[in-house]
Amino acid sequence: MAYNCVVPIKQVPDTKRITGDAMNDDGTVNRGSLPAIFNPEDLNALEMALSIKDKFGGKVTVITMGLPAAGAILRQSLYRGADEAILITDRRCAASDTLATSYILSCAVRKLDYDIVLCGRQAIDGDTAQVGPQLAEKLGIPQITYVEELLDIANGKISAKRNMGNGWQEVKCRLPVLLTVIDEANEPRVAIAKKLMKYKNARTPIEIQMQLKEDNPDASEDELAALAKGKIGTLTEKDLVIKQWDLDFLGADLEWCGRDGSPTKVHRIQSVVLTARDSKTVEPSEQSISDMIHELISDKTIS
Ligand SMILES: Cc1cc2nc3c(=O)[nH]c(=O)nc-3n(C[C@H](O)[C@H](O)[C@H](O)COP(=O)(O)OP(=O)(O)OC[C@H]3O[C@@H](n4cnc5c(N)ncnc54)[C@H](O)[C@@H]3O)c2cc1C
Repeated sequence: MAYNCVVPIKQVPDTKRITGDAMNDDGTVNRGSLPAIFNPEDLNALEMALSIKDKFGGKVTVITMGLPAAGAILRQSLYRGADEAILITDRRCAASDTLATSYILSCAVRKLDYDIVLCGRQAIDGDTAQVGPQLAEKLGIPQITYVEELLDIANGKISAKRNMGNGWQEVKCRLPVLLTVIDEANEPRVAIAKKLMKYKNARTPIEIQMQLKEDNPDASEDELAALAKGKIGTLTEKDLVIKQWDLDFLGADLEWCGRDGSPTKVHRIQSVVLTARDSKTVEPSEQSISDMIHELISDKTIS
């Protein structure tokens, strides 16, 4: 039996290279100013989906909610063997916290024929690990988090090995299911040359419009619309247009999206670089370790 997999992937700021202008004045993350990468554990989730396809057959669809620039991670997924890629982009998604993000993603997943949803354990920017479990909740399906190994899929049931940190747990449940995948699970495959050559020119409609605007600065809106229609037509014939959905297409309730749908607001982000002055050597004795723990508790580093 074949299984259809959906993999929500996120384009994240390369947190190792956070610069001064990482935040907009209105408290949203200035994602355009930061070098962006494929969220590392989403590559592990994609690899697990592609392995399921290799073993059982089926279709792998990647979806991302993000800026037009997120087209880059959709192409990287197609290079690795994903069958379909979808960009969810809409200005009304701005400042979405995990609650709003998981709601919007649930609207998108409901439009797809799926047996298994595979998320990364967490994104390296928000670092909350909340979206996967929240998405399962909104889809009303069971979830297995911290998956390190897929054991079997048969007779409508899946069994997987969870990494508990201090051991493992084998979990079995019925399909459809949502998994969150950890980086120990696998080694993501690299791009396949033939697919890279095919999909390097794949674009979302908004990328096409932005490029045409850049190439034709004096063109009127009507002229740009006509050019875009032509370009999209040409690329569609070559199966090189990446699907693009907005909140209207998803039929999303706007009260659950963006700033309005987000009880959490990111106050400030900054890059914390530890210097030698910030560290001290602790003797490996019970007393020294106990003293250190008391110090960390008293200065509220840990509770
Ligand atoms: C520094 C910082 C701190 C933040 N703190 C919070 C907070 O405490 N609470 C809060 O609600 N929001 C917070 N946010 C906002 C949060 O980043 C966004 O809501 C984000 O879209 C989802 O949360 P996350 O990055 O923690 O993802 P996680 O929950 O860690 O992501 C888990 C998985 O969900 C999937 N996923 C996540 N985002 C997307 C997406 N946009 N498209 C497709 N798949 C996706 C991926 O598979 C990913 O591996 C924070 C943002 C920043 C930059």
